[in-house]
Amino acid sequence: MSDLTTPATRPADTASGPERGRRIDGKAFAVSLRKQIAADVVAFHAEYGVTPGLAVVLVGNDPASEIYVRNKALETHHVGMRSFMHMLPETTTEAALLTLIGRLNADPEIHGILVQLPLPNGIDARRITNAIDPKKDVDGLGEVNAGRLSLGLPGLIPCTPLGCLMLLQSELGNLRGLNAVVVGASNLVGKPMALLLLNEGCTVSIVHIDTINPQALTRTADILVVATGVSGLIRHDWVKPGATVIDVGITRVPTASGKTKLVGDVAFDEVAPIAGRITPVPGGVGPMTIACLLQNTLTAARLSLSESA
Ligand code: NAD
Repeated sequence: MSDLTTPATRPADTASGPERGRRIDGKAFAVSLRKQIAADVVAFHAEYGVTPGLAVVLVGNDPASEIYVRNKALETHHVGMRSFMHMLPETTTEAALLTLIGRLNADPEIHGILVQLPLPNGIDARRITNAIDPKKDVDGLGEVNAGRLSLGLPGLIPCTPLGCLMLLQSELGNLRGLNAVVVGASNLVGKPMALLLLNEGCTVSIVHIDTINPQALTRTADILVVATGVSGLIRHDWVKPGATVIDVGITRVPTASGKTKLVGDVAFDEVAPIAGRITPVPGGVGPMTIACLLQNTLTAARLSLSESA
């Protein structure tokens, strides 16, 4: 029989204290995570004589994706891993891409494979994602890793939600019993984020485009993670005082001076005075995503050894 005197959830202030609006510095956290990964790569090489390798595949010549992919390669080198870039033309066929993935799956020097999305029309992204060996699926987007996450089994976890979870644990410690609301239900961010929080013992709700009266739910959240791509969606009256707010959204908007800037899904200036802790955009979740990709590559290299042993 349940104990009716036990509170249904932990009060937010148990976790966050009376402080308001403290910025969560994702950039600094990512720097220290990358330092830790670099040290782990040295130790891993000393013990097993293996250097983790990450292959990144880009199809087409979208300039933003090219910059992003080159950054990934640079960061991979910085932590002492090997980087293998495959820049393919827009005209690449699905069959040719599948052949390349087959080769990368079989290559023992490559522990992680990432195919940059979106892919050009005519290539089925799901077929490509699922062709990656689940042990090398460092984006965690294939059906095997998604299924393992939903069953609460160990596996490779999508980088952005993994980064959000690390920030939350570093800020709040144990998350058990907290009320978490995730706004956004994509396979890339919202759904895996909700599953990760559930696996940590949170009581989780998911708000999406069809949710009626979303504020009623978001106002119950001790942890509010937002990933919609709708800039400024979360206003001050959507947030419970003292909540920890993680803003995944990134939208580029024009400024009055004719330039552009990046903004999140949370109206930061309104929400910061109410929230206990909050990630800024930029400088919050963004830097964690590449750091977690490197973390996943190291995890994949460890997996490859434990399975060949
Ligand atoms: P998506 O378009 O695939 O999914 C958006 C989700 O938001 C959907 O589930 C939709 O139902 C929900 N949604 C849309 N409008 C809503 C509304 N008005 N109210 C409630 N829910 C609403 O997007 P995604 O791939 O999950 O990305 C979301 C945002 O996160 C984007 O801005 C993207 O650029 C950003 N993102 C950032 C990183 C990072 O590294 N920081 C990584 C991935 C995505």
